[in-house]
Amino acid sequence: MAVEFVRCPACRQKLAVHDYVLEGSLVVCANPKCGTSLRVARRKPLRVELVPEVETYRADYRPESYG
Ligand SMILES: [Zn+2]
Repeated sequence: MAVEFVRCPACRQKLAVHDYVLEGSLVVCANPKCGTSLRVARRKPLRVELVPEVETYRADYRPESYG
C-alpha cells in the first residue's frame, strides 16, 4: 500500500496519507494532542490544509484514519 508523508500544518506531526485518499478528502491529524481536521488540498505534490472548524459538522464528514 503506497503512502505519502506530509506534515500537519498545525503541529508538524508527520502524517501518512494513503494513495487512495483523494483530493478534497478530509483527514484528521494522528497526533492525539492535536487532532486537527485537514483536507487534502493537492495530491501531486501532496499538500494538506486546515479545515475551518465549522465544516467538520457537515453530515458527510468522515475522516480517514492514519496508519
Ligand atoms: Zn496536528
